[in-house]
Parts: sequence; structure tokens; C-alpha cells
Amino acid sequence: MKSIINAKIVTSKEVLEGYVLTFDKKIISIAKEIPKDTELIDAKGLYLSAGFIDIHIHGSNGYDVMDATPKALEEISKSILRTGTTSFLATTMTMSQEQITKALQNVKDFNQKEGARVLGVHLEGPFINPIKHGAQDPNHIQKPNIELIEPFMDIVKMITIAPEVEGAEEFIGYIKEHFPHIVLSIGHSNATYNEAKESFSWGVSHATHLFNAMNPLHHREVGIVGAILEADEVSCDIIADLIHIHPSLFKLLHRLKREQLILITDAMRAGCLKDGISEVGGQRVIVKNKEARLEDGTLAGSVLKLNEALKNFYKYTNISLPELIAMVTSIPAKRLGLDVGILEKGYVADLVLFDEGFEIELVVVQGRLYSF
Ligand SMILES: [Zn+2]
Repeated sequence: MKSIINAKIVTSKEVLEGYVLTFDKKIISIAKEIPKDTELIDAKGLYLSAGFIDIHIHGSNGYDVMDATPKALEEISKSILRTGTTSFLATTMTMSQEQITKALQNVKDFNQKEGARVLGVHLEGPFINPIKHGAQDPNHIQKPNIELIEPFMDIVKMITIAPEVEGAEEFIGYIKEHFPHIVLSIGHSNATYNEAKESFSWGVSHATHLFNAMNPLHHREVGIVGAILEADEVSCDIIADLIHIHPSLFKLLHRLKREQLILITDAMRAGCLKDGISEVGGQRVIVKNKEARLEDGTLAGSVLKLNEALKNFYKYTNISLPELIAMVTSIPAKRLGLDVGILEKGYVADLVLFDEGFEIELVVVQGRLYSF
């Protein structure tokens, strides 16, 4: 049993001072008194929150989920700890059927020993619209096909799909009925406003990197973005790297979406590495000045770190720290039905200690400490 003292504890509602958080593998208590027989950790005035959750990350530190090796998952898991990330969805790309199956099997068989925990898979494609493929290889785009993924439904937590493509309605209906734990997300899509709205009635309840890889908002043709902003019950996520969308949108988005807004990294293999040549989904990527682009200039995911996303979003808004932290903890956890992301007795002890600049000092994953 361990107890963290002298921390400013950021819950989803407030910042608590003068409290002690005690944990083993799970959170035991948040109380005024220090329990007996506990090992003390002095936070020296730093902030303590639930560990961050990244629901859209392809890779880090030179490795990618599509490498389909245990080593790749291990390296990603270990390297993102220093960004405060304690759990994530291993995110696949639009590649050949064989490669996707291999990557899914690899996650399913993964016997994790350390690092940020793999909580499941986010399937980004291959059921997307070629018109909005972004950095996904258009040659491998397929019509929605349940057979491709059916053996892996226990690990799939989220699917990014273009609902306007042929077969999507049946696919979404099938998932909704048989696998209600899976969040269906509109993305890499060219749906009209009406098509997007209709997809919400089928079961689509989220939007992947809002604004990116979808038609833009025009005041007479409001498209997917208009439909998302209007629908109170539909959540969305953004890449707050100051490159994928303009920071002037942060305040507006938060005002409109509140508890439905999540921050992601969409980081690829070059995440947590220096500038240079890299790869995503079988395509060459050039990483320069925190931008990852294909040779034709298309943005190819990001090299954003989740703690940087928080820092960026905080800088351009006037929201409270609990509201900010919720965007990478309780909000994604609730959306995906995960038992993490909340600082309350009984929840998994996934914790992060950070300073005012969102630099990470200590991370706790299921009670295990990693300090930096
Ligand atoms: Zn992605």
C-alpha cells in the first residue's frame, strides 16, 4: 500500500488540497488522514490526476501497431508513459486484410508485462471513403465487412467508419445489435449533413479527429462537422497539436461539446522521436518541426504527445483544470465503458503526477510506479 501526500488532486470536479490518495493495484481511499503502515510518496505540490487515456494512437518510439509484433506493443506502451498515458487503444490503419488480421491477432495474444496498458483496439478503416482517405492507403479500402473482424470483437472497442459507403448501414446495425460495447465513429468520411445525422440514428455516436479527413463546415452545406456540433449526444475527438486544427476553435468546441470532447494524439511511429524519415501504413512520411506528412504533403497522423495536447488546449481556452483533465480521463473512459480515468475508491490505480507545464514526474499503472 502506498500513499501520495502533498499533491493537488485533480478529480473530474475539483482540485483537492490537503488530501492523501492511498492505493495498491486499485485506489483505496482519498482522505484527510494518512493510513497506518503505508509507504509515503511526497508529491511536493505537484498535480495528481487519473492517468491519461489515448483512444487513437498508432505508434511511438519507432514502432507501429501495424508492425504486428509483441515488441512493437511493448515499445509503444513503455515510451508513452512519459507523456502521462497509462492506457490506450492500439489503433490500426487501412492496410491489406492479412496485415490487419495479423495486427488484431497480435493485440489479442499480447501478454503485457509493463508500460501503459493496451485496453483494446481502435479500428481506423478499412471501411472508409476513398475521397477522404487522408494518410490511409486508398488501395486497401474495403466495403464494410464483418467477417474481417468478427474473431476479434472482444478486443475491438472503437471503429472509425464512413457511414455513407455501400453496406455501412447494415454493418453499423449488426455491430449495434451484437456488439453494443463498440463505439462507432464517423471519420474519413464525405457524408452530407443528412447522411451524418441518419448514421446517428443507426448507432454512430462519435466522430474521429473532427475537421480532419472529412468535408469542412460551410454555412449552407454544414456537412459532418455541422451535424456533430448540433448533436448533443454525439461525442468527438480532436488532435490539439496546433497543426491539424486552428487553436481558435478550441474554446468554441469546448463550449459546444463539453463532456463530449476528447483529446487524442493520432501519433504514429515517429511519436516521441526526433525529426526524420518515417513510415505509416506502408507509406513514406517526413517528420519536420512536429509535423508528419506524406510526400505529397498530406498530414500523416501526428507526433503529438498527450501531455502536450493538454498544454496546448489549456493555453488557448479558459477552462478549469478538472475540465481539461477530464478530456483525457473520465470522458474517454465513460465513452468506452472502461474502469479507469476516475479518481475514486475502487477504480484501477492508474495515476499521473505532473507540474504546471504538464511535464510528467511520475506515472502509476495498476499500482506500479514509473518515475522520470
Ligand atoms: Zn489515425
